[in-house]
Amino acid sequence: MFRGFLNRYLTAMFCCMTLLFGANASQAEQVVVYSARIEQLIKPMFDAFTKDTGIAVKFITDKEGALLARLKAEGKNTPADMLITSDAGNLWEAAREGLLMPVESKTLAANIPAYLRDPQGRWFGLSVRARPIIYNTQKVKPADLSTYEALADPEWKGRLCLRTSKKVYNQSLVAMMIAEHGEAKTEQIVKGWVANLATDPLSDDTKAMEFVAAGKCDVTIVNSYYYGRLMQKNPELPLAIFWPNQENSGVHVNISGAGVTKYARHPEAAIKLLEFLSSEKAQNLFADVNMEYPVNPVIKPDPAVAAWGTFKQNQINVNTAGELQKEAIKLMDRAGWR
Ligand code: FE
Repeated sequence: MFRGFLNRYLTAMFCCMTLLFGANASQAEQVVVYSARIEQLIKPMFDAFTKDTGIAVKFITDKEGALLARLKAEGKNTPADMLITSDAGNLWEAAREGLLMPVESKTLAANIPAYLRDPQGRWFGLSVRARPIIYNTQKVKPADLSTYEALADPEWKGRLCLRTSKKVYNQSLVAMMIAEHGEAKTEQIVKGWVANLATDPLSDDTKAMEFVAAGKCDVTIVNSYYYGRLMQKNPELPLAIFWPNQENSGVHVNISGAGVTKYARHPEAAIKLLEFLSSEKAQNLFADVNMEYPVNPVIKPDPAVAAWGTFKQNQINVNTAGELQKEAIKLMDRAGWR
């Protein structure tokens, strides 16, 4: 009787120890992600990663500012292994704050062109977002268009719509122009844009395109995935993409990307996840869900995106968008771009 009890007791203990051990083992095999990309843009890749590797991915999503503040406040105690966010300006800021660790990986170096990742390996582009010109097809012919810079010419007076300069996308665009032209020439160009505005700067890219479609202005500059979303909803809008600067520097591009946090508890699993996100399998998912372009140049964009045509990208390292962000903000302010 006693023996029977002991047996059962031991069996119960063994069972629970297995459970505990099992729980510990699976806890080690996980990555915790802070993501400024919304759940529907990341979860399909995480699920694919877990299916491939058995490593679980836990994540929270929030605005990039809130995530950076949280990482800073948590310091060494952060549960986060990885930060995912859009715009090189934001990733550059996280790196500057010392929140990311340098990663060396042959896979990442092979899959991601050098201009789309941090020279110090603290963050890596995972999808490319292009910022072309959008024009009203009833009012503008593609032959009328050439470069971002040319939109400062007097022939565009009262015909240009721009999103507010407060958005990092425009700050990055201007930062890249400073890198190419220097401050004086860039300021001249930006002043020309401001002089050509048909209306006060708009709150977002979609609104800017709606103004162009409604004939309130003829051209604007937006991220192409917003164009994709708007045209999917409303295919008959008289809007088209023009890829500027094809004879010189190329289209302004930016990234969505990720880095491993400085105090990651699971750095190896986090690097594995990064490598997976740069792989052929995940690249399609990562770019396609938001109508962006893969960073990995061997992978083709989604057919709907490919239909907009191919274009040359500006190959100045996107890191520059962060480095010159302050100068860009000051310059836009001087030029009167609100
Ligand atoms: Fe966006």
